[in-house]
Amino acid sequence: MRRTEPESGRGLRLRNAAALHRPQTAAMKDGHLDPPDRWAGARARLLDAVDADFAYTAAETGFAAMPPGVRAAMAAVPRHRFVEEPWRDAAYDNRPLPIGHGQTISQPFIVALMTAMLELRPTDRVLEIGTGCGYQAAVLARLAAHVDSVEIVPELAAGAAATLAALGVANVVVHEADGHLGWPPGAPYDAVIATAAPAALPPAWAAQLAPGGRLAAPVGAHGDAQWLLLLRKDAGGRVHEQRTIGVRFVPLVGRAR
Ligand code: SAH
Repeated sequence: MRRTEPESGRGLRLRNAAALHRPQTAAMKDGHLDPPDRWAGARARLLDAVDADFAYTAAETGFAAMPPGVRAAMAAVPRHRFVEEPWRDAAYDNRPLPIGHGQTISQPFIVALMTAMLELRPTDRVLEIGTGCGYQAAVLARLAAHVDSVEIVPELAAGAAATLAALGVANVVVHEADGHLGWPPGAPYDAVIATAAPAALPPAWAAQLAPGGRLAAPVGAHGDAQWLLLLRKDAGGRVHEQRTIGVRFVPLVGRAR
C-alpha cells in the first residue's frame, strides 16, 4: 500500500492542487458554474429532513435537535460537488449515494449526527477514517482547525483531494492508507470519526484520542447489525462508550494489524 509521506506534511491535497487550475470548460461541464441558487431549495428541504430525523431519533442519540453549528456547516457544503452524474440531481436527498468503487457517500442525517457527536471546537484536530468522496471531511473542516482523512482506495483518495482543493478547502489532508492504524503521525486527535464499519473497534483509534476527546464510529461484523458508537475519553484517559442508533455502513476493509 502506497502511503503519502507523513513527515513531509504534504498529503494528496497538495499533490492535486493542479485541480484548482482546470480549464473553465471542464468546470462548466461538471456543473461547477451553476448559479448559486440552483440548489438552494433542495438544500433547505434537506436540512428540514435532517431536522426531522434528529427529532425522530432524539431518545437514542441524546440530541433533541441538530446543533446550530452543524446546521450551518451542512448548509454551506455543496453536496452536489461530491457526487457524479447521474446522481447530482439527488445530491440533496436525505439518503446515501454511490460514489464508485462500491462505496457510498453517507446519508446527510448520519453525517450531521456523527458531526454533532464530535462536539467540535474551532481549535480541534480531527481524524477521519474513510474519506470516500470527501463530503464528510468538508463538513468537519468548517467546524474544526484541521482534518486528517485516511482512505484506502487510491482513486477515491485522489478524487476527494481534488474536489476539496477545487472548493478551496485548505484544512483537510487526505492520506492514502489503511485506516486500521489511524494516523499515528497526527495523533493525538480531539475527535475521531470512522465512516466504514469494523467488526470491532481497532485499538489505535481510541489510543489516538486526546483526553477529553470524542470518537464516533459504526461497529458490527459484516452482515450483522451495526451500531453507531460514541466514545469519550475523560481527562484521566478512561474511555466511556455509548451505543446509539442502528446503522448500515460499508465495511472497513484492509487488515487489522
Ligand atoms: N465519509 C465518506 C464516506 C465514504 S464510505 C464520504 O463523505 O463520502 C467509507 C469509505 O471508507 C470508503 O471510501 C472506503 O473505501 C473507505 N475504507 C474502507 N476501509 C478502509 C480502511 N481500512 N482504511 C481507510 N478507508 C477505508
